[in-house]
Amino acid sequence: MDPDLTELEGRLQQFIGRTIGPPVVARDCVTEAAIRQFCDVIGDRNPAYRDAESAVETRHAGVVAPPAMMQSWVLDGPPREGIEKARTEQDRLYDLLSEYGYTSALGTSSEEHYERYLRPGDKVSAETVIESVTGPKKTGLGEGWFITTRTTFRDNADAVVGWIEFRVLKFAPKQSVARESEQPATRDPERPSRIKPPMARDNAWWWQAVEKGRLPIQRCAQCGQLRHPPRPMCDACGSVEFDSIDACGRGSVHSFTVVEHPQFPGYEYPIIVVLIDLAEGERIVSNLIDCAPDDCRIGMPVEVVFETGEDGMVLPLFRPAEASS
Ligand SMILES: [Zn+2]
Repeated sequence: MDPDLTELEGRLQQFIGRTIGPPVVARDCVTEAAIRQFCDVIGDRNPAYRDAESAVETRHAGVVAPPAMMQSWVLDGPPREGIEKARTEQDRLYDLLSEYGYTSALGTSSEEHYERYLRPGDKVSAETVIESVTGPKKTGLGEGWFITTRTTFRDNADAVVGWIEFRVLKFAPKQSVARESEQPATRDPERPSRIKPPMARDNAWWWQAVEKGRLPIQRCAQCGQLRHPPRPMCDACGSVEFDSIDACGRGSVHSFTVVEHPQFPGYEYPIIVVLIDLAEGERIVSNLIDCAPDDCRIGMPVEVVFETGEDGMVLPLFRPAEASS
């Protein structure tokens, strides 16, 4: 192994298991007002979060905070003038990797776990530990190291209320390596493909159906409400049970924009990005093909066409259609 790399590995090992600094204590207690404001912003109408009177009737017997707010209680807010942020072990770890050329960072995954609902009056603190540093790994972006941290959230009584495990790829961007060698592309000029959409538990089923030439719309199994894009819970009734219907593939352009820049490899420009009103009532973002940007109009009828990329990825795109009767 490269002696430089051996040295780096040794230095990285020393970070594993360390807390990044003293626990961060929330500036304020959990309050009904802050919960309500959060719910206003994201459009959550759950009475258990918003309304003390109706919350008494819920199984929580009072207002609780949405679990997804857990981290928000300890966030520091924007940088304040005159207040120097204390450097953490995580900053030092990032600096060390940058020193060795791994200058870019990308959050790759985040997992949250909740032990209990937070209630008004709770005061949250958070402590972050560097769990692991693994690498070097070759990735599509370049060679890099995966850094996993776990932040544990506690209440005033020091009991755990939840945790977040966050993984970051700290990598050496491919581009800078190419610039160093300054050689014309003599390597296999493999054509890059489009950036893949993230596929996880909540939406992989949708892409699998698309691969078979279907355009599904998620449907709540309890109240029947349609929703797109796929997500875990019905915002009408709160059910997590769902099935789907197949859209007929016809619709009209609700809005669009023509993208000229920035140009990523793997795409042909200009791209017409369209928001489509599907005949079934839901909307979907896609690209319009077989149409000059100047010919695209709001309200124009379109139909789906399934396009298979060179990498085998199937995408539901849209093209102009005859107006349906
Ligand atoms: Zn529902």
